[in-house]
Amino acid sequence: MTDLSSLPLREGLRGQSPYGAPQLDVPFMLNTNENTHPVPPEVAEAVVARVAQVAGGLNRYPDREFTRLRESLAGYLGHGLTAAHVWAANGSNEVLQQILQAFGGPRRSVLSFLPSYSMYPLLAAGTDTAFVDGGRAADHTLSAEHAAAMVREHRPNLVFLASPNNPTGTALGLDVIEAVYTAQARNEAEGGPGAMVVVDEAYAEFALDGTPSALTLLEGRERLIVTRTMSKAFALAGARLGYLAADPAVADALRLVRLPYHLSSVTQATAIAALEHVETLLETVADIKAQRDRIVARLRELGLDPAVSDSNFVFFGHLEDAHAVWEALLERGVLVRDVGIPHHLRVTAGTEEETTAFLTALEEALAAGA
Ligand code: PMP
Repeated sequence: MTDLSSLPLREGLRGQSPYGAPQLDVPFMLNTNENTHPVPPEVAEAVVARVAQVAGGLNRYPDREFTRLRESLAGYLGHGLTAAHVWAANGSNEVLQQILQAFGGPRRSVLSFLPSYSMYPLLAAGTDTAFVDGGRAADHTLSAEHAAAMVREHRPNLVFLASPNNPTGTALGLDVIEAVYTAQARNEAEGGPGAMVVVDEAYAEFALDGTPSALTLLEGRERLIVTRTMSKAFALAGARLGYLAADPAVADALRLVRLPYHLSSVTQATAIAALEHVETLLETVADIKAQRDRIVARLRELGLDPAVSDSNFVFFGHLEDAHAVWEALLERGVLVRDVGIPHHLRVTAGTEEETTAFLTALEEALAAGA
């Protein structure tokens, strides 16, 4: 028997904790921002049919270029994008990891702005890329001026911008992304490194009306990458399919680091089938947004200061003891996320029933003095 501390672990991984959102068997699982609606039967049947078609051919490796899937994803994204602009992997986590493998690494850095998605520092550590936190305003917003100043100061090789951000749920204005892009271009013009600017749009489909996507900025910006996922709006977290849109040269870079045949035939068939039923799959998005808005409105009435949410979750504060509230909710069968920010919690917007369960449990917990 041995333990982790006695293994010759890489320096950068010592003392790190693995990603560990609790997976508990409770009636209301509202802690990992999945789409809580099951896959519609029509889509599930289409997936089964497409997987059945490839099952007999599983003796062969899959299409390494997943061309058909890239065509389907480009068709879904629109904006004049083609298969050449698209790349995919097992969840957008793997897409981000491949981006770091190609553009980060030893003696290189990635700049992000915490609090943000908890995997960014872990992915940086896993690829031996220095992680630099540019910070945010006290209300967790990020201005174009501050973001650009941090790019100028730290001269990173990559910038990760989550829009909408996790855990706060608020999308960035395109002015922030443009300012970051311009700042990295100025760094390069002065002889420093330019940066790949990655906009993580995992929750883009839940945006409030009028919130634009960074896809609209891709034209003419060959260092800009927009990542998306089928894990959230598409209700396919279990299928593991994330993707990106960028200049075709970015896919060429990622081909250098991806494992051969990284997207299984089953994964490709599943995603292709799902993309043939986009409208049905995305039918739940309007319902989820309505529940999200309901949560925001009620938390506002309760004085809990919810953040503006362009996503399928709500970040709220003004809790005396956030962990006590988290526990009181769990006692009532509702699992939400304690993101480690004092006085704050984050809850996923699910079905109407789940939202009611959450709001009822929360009001009870607060009344009981949690
Ligand atoms: N980015 C953000 C901001 C996320 O919240 C998540 C999932 N929690 C991901 C990326 C990764 O999702 P997946 O790997 O399932 O595509």
